Amino acid sequence: MCGIDGVTGVPDAARVAYLGLYSLQHRGQESAGMVVVNGEGVARSHRGMGLVSDVFSERVLSELPGDVAIGHARYSTAGTSVLANAQPMLAGYREGPLALAHNGNLTNAVQLRSDLVAKGSIFQSSSDSEVLVHLIARSEAREPEDQLLDALERVEGAYSLLITVGRTLYAIVDPRGFRPLVLGRLGRGWVVASETCALDITGATLVRELEPGDFVRIHGADVDSLPRLARRPHRRCVFELVYFSRPDSTVFHRSVDGVRRALGRELAREHPAPGADCVFSVPDSSNAMALGFSEQSGVKLEHALIRNHYVGRTFIHPAQADRMAKVKIKFNPVRGVLAGKKVVVVDDSIVRGTTSRALVQLIRQAGATEVHFRVASPPITGPCYYGIDTPSKKELIASSNSVEQIRAHLGVDTLGYLSLDGMLRAAGGDPADFCHSCFSGDYPTDIPEDDLAGARHAAPLHPLAV
Ligand code: AMP
Repeated sequence: MCGIDGVTGVPDAARVAYLGLYSLQHRGQESAGMVVVNGEGVARSHRGMGLVSDVFSERVLSELPGDVAIGHARYSTAGTSVLANAQPMLAGYREGPLALAHNGNLTNAVQLRSDLVAKGSIFQSSSDSEVLVHLIARSEAREPEDQLLDALERVEGAYSLLITVGRTLYAIVDPRGFRPLVLGRLGRGWVVASETCALDITGATLVRELEPGDFVRIHGADVDSLPRLARRPHRRCVFELVYFSRPDSTVFHRSVDGVRRALGRELAREHPAPGADCVFSVPDSSNAMALGFSEQSGVKLEHALIRNHYVGRTFIHPAQADRMAKVKIKFNPVRGVLAGKKVVVVDDSIVRGTTSRALVQLIRQAGATEVHFRVASPPITGPCYYGIDTPSKKELIASSNSVEQIRAHLGVDTLGYLSLDGMLRAAGGDPADFCHSCFSGDYPTDIPEDDLAGARHAAPLHPLAV
């Protein structure tokens, strides 16, 4: 999963894009990068491994002059976690420098890549997104926009894209609209970003959310909607609302916070916990859900788990640290709240079940007498092929265990998952507009056999160590 941010028509675009990326850090912590284009059309790039604030220093930003910028914060789903796969990609192209930042995952990238390699393309990375750059470069259409369209017609899957060709910025959302993208106004310029929190941080105002199939060109002060991509049934990723996006963002025309509270209320209706003394969240993604559960059930809301916010992905765990040690580094229970209490724990999702199991042990050690675990989404039974980093099917606890088996594994008194219908009710609007394939197995695109078998999820796309 990734966060993308584009800026145009704003002096010192790099600093604006930096702030945007900083607010999108939750969408990807492996690498960050930016391409900035100056008034002469010269593009400069800087990419690095790690957090946005580690990759960009004051000195680096001052060496990225220009009023057009695109940036990317990456969490790999296809391709390995190495600098070669950091984005934006920057390529020499017949129409000027071409830079590309991609959020999503292309489901037919492996096949396209082997076709391109057979025709002589040389790849510099193992990321699925590079396929797009080659398809654009090889298109026989005359105009750059037709070349982009040509390429987009050949790829399948999830893509929210920011592309610069020379000084023109293109913002594109795939026809199913898996991933969000919003357009904002900043002074005389424009900002396009994965979530509205990236507009708020710079003082940009929301103009509109891009719709599935939108293909927008921004050049100077002009924003033009180009012919839309082929129509397909909309499939907005419901997990963006459940877990991925920030609660202060508006995503798919919905307040993420509002949906999460509604998920908590639905959960309390479907799986109440009569007699419980208090309810609390596994912070932070479940905070609003615990609030909703408390509102609906009347069970008192507490803060019983405190999260250390400074644990980055680069934290060096003590050698051989077991799961419990790793969970203790991140969470600590508040004993005074838990001792002698019957408690309800609300989490947004269970993936492998390892964190939840260790958390439950911590909660019991802190003195809770009963633990009732409530999950504000259905069991995750299959991987995501559209950009969320989920493990292979066999690592997903709900792919091979019943709810009762998971309850026993977690060591809780009761376990309740929200139903698919309940989740979609909380999300609001037409339930058919959502992708919920990780919960339901209803994948809206063809998935290559090897991917379904789990082969590609484990291995990099490419035999080279990039
Ligand atoms: P697990 O121990 O694997 O069951 O972890 C469950 C926790 O992971 C939940 O509290 C979620 O908030 C969180 N989570 C859900 N999806 C993801 C994801 N794709 N990447 C990282 N964490 C996730």
